[in-house]
Amino acid sequence: MKQFKTESKKLLDLMINSIYTNKEIFLRELISNASDALDKISFESLTHPEMGIDPDSLAITLSFDRDARTVTVSDNGIGMSAEELDRNLGTIAHSGSEQYKEANAEHQGDELDIIGQFGVGFYSSFMVADDVRVVSRAYGADEANVWESDGVKGYTVSPAGPGERDGADDHGTDVILHLRPSTDEDETDRFLSEAGLRDLVERYSNYVRHPIKMMVTKSRQKPKPADAGDDYKPEYETYQELDTINSMTPIWKKRRSEVSDEDYAEFYKSTFHDWADPERTISFHAEGALSYDALLFIPSQAPFDLYSKDYEKGLALYSSNVMIQEKCADLVPDYYNFVRGVVDSPDITLNISRETLQHDSQLRSIARRVESKVTSELEDMRDNDREAYERFFANFGRGIKFGIYSSYGTKADELGDLLLFWSAKQGKNVTLKEYVDAMPEGQDKIFYVGGVDRDVLARSPKVASALDHGYDVLLCTQDVDEFMFQFMRSYHVDEVEAEGDEPAKPARDIELANVTSADLDLATDEEKEAAKKAADDNKELLSAVKDALDGKVDDVRTAAGMGDVPATVATEGPISLEMERVAQQGPDADQMPHARRVLQLNGEHPVFAKLVAAKEAGDTDRLALYASILYDQALLVEGMPLADPVAFARNVTKLM
Ligand code: ADP
Repeated sequence: MKQFKTESKKLLDLMINSIYTNKEIFLRELISNASDALDKISFESLTHPEMGIDPDSLAITLSFDRDARTVTVSDNGIGMSAEELDRNLGTIAHSGSEQYKEANAEHQGDELDIIGQFGVGFYSSFMVADDVRVVSRAYGADEANVWESDGVKGYTVSPAGPGERDGADDHGTDVILHLRPSTDEDETDRFLSEAGLRDLVERYSNYVRHPIKMMVTKSRQKPKPADAGDDYKPEYETYQELDTINSMTPIWKKRRSEVSDEDYAEFYKSTFHDWADPERTISFHAEGALSYDALLFIPSQAPFDLYSKDYEKGLALYSSNVMIQEKCADLVPDYYNFVRGVVDSPDITLNISRETLQHDSQLRSIARRVESKVTSELEDMRDNDREAYERFFANFGRGIKFGIYSSYGTKADELGDLLLFWSAKQGKNVTLKEYVDAMPEGQDKIFYVGGVDRDVLARSPKVASALDHGYDVLLCTQDVDEFMFQFMRSYHVDEVEAEGDEPAKPARDIELANVTSADLDLATDEEKEAAKKAADDNKELLSAVKDALDGKVDDVRTAAGMGDVPATVATEGPISLEMERVAQQGPDADQMPHARRVLQLNGEHPVFAKLVAAKEAGDTDRLALYASILYDQALLVEGMPLADPVAFARNVTKLM
């Protein structure tokens, strides 16, 4: 007997002891695996007609045996070899196992959520079964193999016995569940009935494209005997017939009005292995030169691996009901990589190599439509269901920002209005438009600042000063934010027509400005005058401070309107301190350009007078000590690491 991998064991343990109320999903999971296996073989046979697969013969078959307490899910799909049985069923689906490990570490005890979260698929069998036997024969193989387990100790893989998938070309898989005894809280008997299984298929697997067949009991009138008299009453008999019990019409071919939200949600969850209902469902149909049906979902939560490099975006691509590609990446832009769904077009040519060009332009045309549909859905959410949109943006907003960044800003017009930022003044998330609408008369820039922690940013001197002057500041805490703004540069506001007393406003581009930028000027004329005077009177002092800092800053200046802050570090040019900090964490840190730093001194502050006094007394050591401490503490306030914390500590001690 082989042992399960550790993480599989933990999951199995959860499954078996689960108080998960939704145990019945096991059938949906097994049917969905069977359906995938049928997809695989039908796709293979498309490219290899010599396989001689009759598409109409492909089916999933359900059966049960009340006395033996078994439920069997069979398919004549691609099947698995002994090695595949071992690899695929001996461990949690590769896709899920790593994430499972992480989630398990994070959510100890949070079992209910974990169970539904991944492609736990096959393992969900153990919620209802105490023994699972999988008989499978890979397409093209001569014999079948059996995988068997009680879900606790481990599993065995061995050659199948006589009668087990040993007919000619008997490829495919039987999953045979031996059900646990029924108990009050755990009613498994209902799965051992026609009505019970039919009910589950209708609720969870109705739209599976392949037929799901089951022997069903029917009733018919017996033929009237030839010698029946006038008083003959028709007699009935029951008989059994193999029937297709699912609707089979792909759900995406249906009109929105024909399908309930629950059905869409079930389809979404079973097809895309999510445990939560989708946030939004988008269904549309195109007719004409290129006709297609599309069904798209905006998930309500981000998959675990969304921001890892293993994540694959894309929509399932079907042509006339045959899956051509599970994840066709060309159908969605990177910034909408979270969108799941299906596109089905009879016009997409299957022979991709021969007609690549045409294929490309078809895909591009669909992709454009998909993108615009998603955009309008998001706009609708933003305007009409703000709470949901904020949730959405918390999950997926970073990808949209990346879209603007990686397009060097060319996507800013399309995506800019989808962005949300935390407003320091309003204490909530705002769009750029909402920011602009709330700008006081005379403000001509949108102010933002980047950093790690919103509360720290809100209290930073630059932000405090902007707020003092009546200006709102967007507090940006994602690494991509400032880089994105660098490419965006400005935000376009459309022309506003005059209305009532409100005068017309021309269309304009409003500059996006980092409040930590040295040339930003929020001060009043009076404040500026004072700063200029301090600078003029103390030219030598400023250059002495710069010399004392020995190359650490590019310039030392007085700045206006600094309030009670003695010194700050501002930057000049495109790179801010925060951007430098983010870039330093990247792989090419040493090649990254540095921020041009300007130490700004407050000429009005008593500390400035101390500097002046030290300079006048000719005390260069003291001046250097002050300069160094002022610079270091200004960096600390900006959330930047100190190059030499030991020196800083020593300087402070010296001062005391
Ligand atoms: P998932 O379906 O999410 O990948 P499962 O644990 O349900 O995870 O299944 C693991 C793997 O086992 C599948 O990816 C598939 O390769 C294989 N498998 C499961 N059921 C079948 C089946 N009926 N026919 C062929 N392969 C199957």
